[in-house]
Amino acid sequence: MPVYKAPVDDVLFLLNDVFHIERFANLPGFADAAPDVVQAIVAEAAKFCEEVLAPLNRIGDREGCRRGDDGEVATPGGFKDAYRRFVAGGWIGISVPQEFGGLGLPVALTQTVNEFLASANMAFAMYPTLTQGAIAVLLTHGTAQQKSLYVPKMLAGEWTGTMNLTEPQCGTDLGLIRTKAVRQPDGSYKIAGTKIFISAGEHDLATNIVHLVLARIEGAPEGTRGLSLFVVPKILPNPDGSLGARNAVSCGSIEEKMGIHGNATCVMNYDGAAAWLVSAEHHGLNAMFVMMNEARLGVGVQGLAVSEVAYQNAAQYAKDRLQGRALGGAKFKDKPADPIIVHPDVRRVLMTIRAFNEAARALVLWTSIKSDVARRSDSDKERRAADDHMGLLTPVIKGVLTDLGFANAVMAQQVFGGHGYIREWGMEQFVRDARIPMIYEGTNGIQALDLVGRKLGKDGGRAIMGFVDEVRSYVKETAAGDAAMKPLVEPVGKALGHLQQATMWFMQNAMAKPDNAGAGATDYMHLLGLVVLGYMWCRIAAAANARLAGDSSGRMNAKLVTARFFMERMLPETAAHLARIEAGAGSVMELPAEMF
Ligand SMILES: Cc1cc2nc3c(=O)[nH]c(=O)nc-3n(C[C@H](O)[C@H](O)[C@H](O)COP(=O)(O)OP(=O)(O)OC[C@H]3O[C@@H](n4cnc5c(N)ncnc54)[C@H](O)[C@@H]3O)c2cc1C
Repeated sequence: MPVYKAPVDDVLFLLNDVFHIERFANLPGFADAAPDVVQAIVAEAAKFCEEVLAPLNRIGDREGCRRGDDGEVATPGGFKDAYRRFVAGGWIGISVPQEFGGLGLPVALTQTVNEFLASANMAFAMYPTLTQGAIAVLLTHGTAQQKSLYVPKMLAGEWTGTMNLTEPQCGTDLGLIRTKAVRQPDGSYKIAGTKIFISAGEHDLATNIVHLVLARIEGAPEGTRGLSLFVVPKILPNPDGSLGARNAVSCGSIEEKMGIHGNATCVMNYDGAAAWLVSAEHHGLNAMFVMMNEARLGVGVQGLAVSEVAYQNAAQYAKDRLQGRALGGAKFKDKPADPIIVHPDVRRVLMTIRAFNEAARALVLWTSIKSDVARRSDSDKERRAADDHMGLLTPVIKGVLTDLGFANAVMAQQVFGGHGYIREWGMEQFVRDARIPMIYEGTNGIQALDLVGRKLGKDGGRAIMGFVDEVRSYVKETAAGDAAMKPLVEPVGKALGHLQQATMWFMQNAMAKPDNAGAGATDYMHLLGLVVLGYMWCRIAAAANARLAGDSSGRMNAKLVTARFFMERMLPETAAHLARIEAGAGSVMELPAEMF
C-alpha cells in the first residue's frame, strides 16, 4: 500500500522563510493568516489527506464510479463519507472573500491544501476543486441573484460545480461548439446538446450539481465570438435555495478510462434544460476563462502532487529493497545485498524528482501570492505586474508541471523494477493518474502555443521583459554580494541568456513564418520552466543558507545539495531547448501529410 506524508515543513519553510508571507499583511485577508493559523490549517489538511483520503485512493481506482439504469452515478466506497468530512472542515472556501461566506485567506493556502488532496487522492480532489472554479466564475460574472442562490450552497459543499466545454466534434477548437440555447419569454434559456468528458458531471456526493455550460444562442455568430455561458442546475432551486423539480439534464454514460477512476467522467445530455445566462450574451468564453485559468493552475498542482507522492514511495522503496552492492564496495556487509539507494543511477532518479518537487511547489506558492496581489492590492502598478506574472506563468505551470509530473511518476515507477508494474505497490496507478493532467484543461501543446502565440507578445512583451528583468537583477545582485550563492546564480544567469536568445529568435523568425513559433513552442515553454524553477532554487537556497547554522536536522543542507543538483544536472537542458527552437520548423514541416 503506497504511503503519503504531506510536506508540511516544506510548505511552512516556503511561506515563512522564502516568500515571507507576513510582508503582505497589507493585503486583505493576509493579516488573518498569522503563522499559527497557517500552521494549524496546513497541519489539519495534512492529517485529513494522510488518514482519510490516501487510504481511499486505491479503492477508488479499483471500484471506479458506476452509473445506474436511472442515470444516477455512485462514487466508490468511502468517498461519500470522506466528502462529508471534507466539507465539514470548510476547506472549499478558504480563499473565497469573507463577504461571500469564505474565510478570505491567501490563495497559497488553498493551493497547499489542493496539492495535499491531489497527492492523497487525485480523483476525489477533483470534485471540490472544480466547485472552487465554478464559484470563481459566478463571483466574477454572475448576477447578484446567482451569487446568493448558488455560492453559499457550493461553499458548503452541498452543491458541486462542473465545466462543460467539450463536445464530440469539439475539443481544442471551441469555435466548433454546437450546443444550442434558445431564449424563453421569462428571460431564461433552454439548452439542447451533448457534452462529453465532463468531470464530476454526475455523482452522489452532493444533493445538486451546478453545470456551467458553453453554448451558442440561436442566431449567434459562428466561432468563439458566438459563445455564451449558462448556469444549468441538475435540480432547479427554489428562490429560498431549497430543491425543486429535476432539470432536463442527465448523464448518458460514464467513460471507461486510463486513470482517475474515482472521478466520474460523463457524457451529459441537455434535452431542453432550463438555463440562465452568466455574463453577457456572446461573452461566454471570456467568462469561462476565469474557471479555465483557475483550473489550469489547479491541474499544474496535480502534476506536482502526483510527482510528490510517487517520489515518497520510490524513496522508501529504495531504502528497503536489497539488490547488488555499492560500486565502491559493500555498504551493509551484514546484509545479503545493499539497499538500492546506494546506486548512483537510482539516486539520480530520486534527486531529479526531488529537485523538481521542491522548486515546483515554490513556483506554485509564489504564483499564488501573485494571484492575491493581482486581486487584492490597492496599487495599480502592483496589480498589473502580478497580472502579467499570472498570464505568463499559468501556461508554464500547467504545461511544465504536468509534463514533468508524469515523467517523474514513470521514473519513480522504474525504481520499483518489475514491482512498479504490478498493481500491489500502487505505482502504476500514479502513472495512469498522472497522464491526464497533460491532456485536459487544454493539452500541453496548446499551453505552449498560448505562451508563445499570445502571452509573449501581449502588451509589447511587458510580461516576459518584467520576468527577465527580475531574474537578471536578482542574479547580478546576489552574485556580487553573496559568495556562497555564486555557484547557483551563475548557471541561472546563463540559462536566462538562453531564454532571451530564444525570445529574440521568435521575434525575428516567427512573424513571417508562424510555423517556426509552433515548432518551437513546447521547447520554449520548458526552457522558461527551467529558468523559473532555477530561480526558485536560488530563492530556496538563500533562505536555507540563512537557517543553516541553527539547523541540526540536516534539512537545510539537503536543500542546498538539491539546489546544486538542479543547477548541474537539470538546468543545462536549456541549451538543448534553445538549439531545437533555433532549428526552426524546416524538418518538422517538410514531409507531405501522405508520407506519415
Ligand atoms: C478524463 C477527462 C476529463 C475531462 N474533463 C473535462 C471537463 O470537465 N470539461 C470539459 O469541457 N472537458 C473535459 N475534458 C476534455 C479535455 O479538456 C479535452 O480532451 C482536451 O481539451 C483536448 O481536446 P480533444 O480531446 O478533443 O483533442 P483535440 O482537440 O482533438 O486534439 C488532439 C491533438 O491535437 C493537438 N491540437 C489540436 N489543435 C491544435 C492546434 N490548433 N495546434 C496544435 N495542436 C493542436 C492537441 O494538442 C492534441 O494533441 C476531459 C477529458 C478527459 C480525458
